Amino acid sequence: MTSVVITDIGELVSFEPERPVRHDAAVVLVDGIVAWVGDAADAPAADSRVDARGGAVIPGFVDSHSHLVFAGDRADEYAARMAGQSYSAGGIRSTVAATRAAPDDELRARLAALVAQARAQGTTTLEIKSGYGLTVADEQRALRLAREVTDETTFLGAHVVPAEYASDRGAYVDLVCGPMLESCAPHARWVDVFIDSGAFTVDEARRILQAGRDAGLGLRVHAGQLAADGGVALAVELGAASVDHCTHLTDADVAALADSATVATLLPLVEFSTRQPYPDARRLLDAGVQIAIATDCNPGSNFSSSMPLAVALAVREMGVTPLEALEAATVGGARALRRSGVGEVRVGSSGGVVVLDAPSHSWLAYRPGVPLVREVVGGVR
Ligand SMILES: [Zn+2]
Repeated sequence: MTSVVITDIGELVSFEPERPVRHDAAVVLVDGIVAWVGDAADAPAADSRVDARGGAVIPGFVDSHSHLVFAGDRADEYAARMAGQSYSAGGIRSTVAATRAAPDDELRARLAALVAQARAQGTTTLEIKSGYGLTVADEQRALRLAREVTDETTFLGAHVVPAEYASDRGAYVDLVCGPMLESCAPHARWVDVFIDSGAFTVDEARRILQAGRDAGLGLRVHAGQLAADGGVALAVELGAASVDHCTHLTDADVAALADSATVATLLPLVEFSTRQPYPDARRLLDAGVQIAIATDCNPGSNFSSSMPLAVALAVREMGVTPLEALEAATVGGARALRRSGVGEVRVGSSGGVVVLDAPSHSWLAYRPGVPLVREVVGGVR
């Protein structure tokens, strides 16, 4: 057993229910797991010490939505979009072609680099989706590779209809619900569907999600990115753990979410990178909806893996306080993954802690784009 004590903490954001933010605190981790939280004066001895030098300590971020198994890039598409072209889901197909052509080792190396970047920005729990293979073998391969780096793997065969099925989308939905699901389910914890005018309809999504549930997977949904598309109601009806995007919501959607255990996961880096209006986090919190903030890091609609920047955007653009945004990026993400023991700093937490180069968590919003994550301590899978 190896223990480490973190001292001289400027502010500890633990999200303990009775005292979410505390001062004069110390934290001890044993083998990467939080073993003690209390007043610095009472801190027990440990094998080693991390001096926070007055910096804030926060939970490791929980990024509950990413697409990190792919090849190629779409930098040209981004430049064209910034020059005035509008975003559509169709660009996904170019990443599919590059991903299918890439050998395992290339995908594995790229994934490892992306995961390392996320961790350097404080992300210690990361959900990763398939969705750039769209054949039985390529989807299974993406999930196997994702499983090498996280337990939170999501089968997203229903990302878009691949080009070869363009004239027979029903046959593709059959494939996703049948052989593809059967091959992928052992490597996945979740099933997801992209509901969008360029992707799948609510009725198609219902079939796919029900098939995934029958195969033992938990449910997640992409909905409401570009329009109020009925996907939120479906997610609530089926008891999905999370419905992601939620940029366009009807009043009935908000009321349904408030009455449910489904988390609304907001992805402000997508709005930033597609120049779209941001989701209204304040409206959701005021209605009693549980929210999460995640990156949706992917090669098309947003290629940033920065949870700190997502927090800064939420504060700047979505009507929440820095503490509410940080809670959504940690506790909220844990809820969206139905996980306990991550996204908070309490005895038994396995999500690790982040030492900031800033005296308060509010500096995550105050200093957008600045690398404030000084050190990530602990965290076990
Ligand atoms: Zn996504």
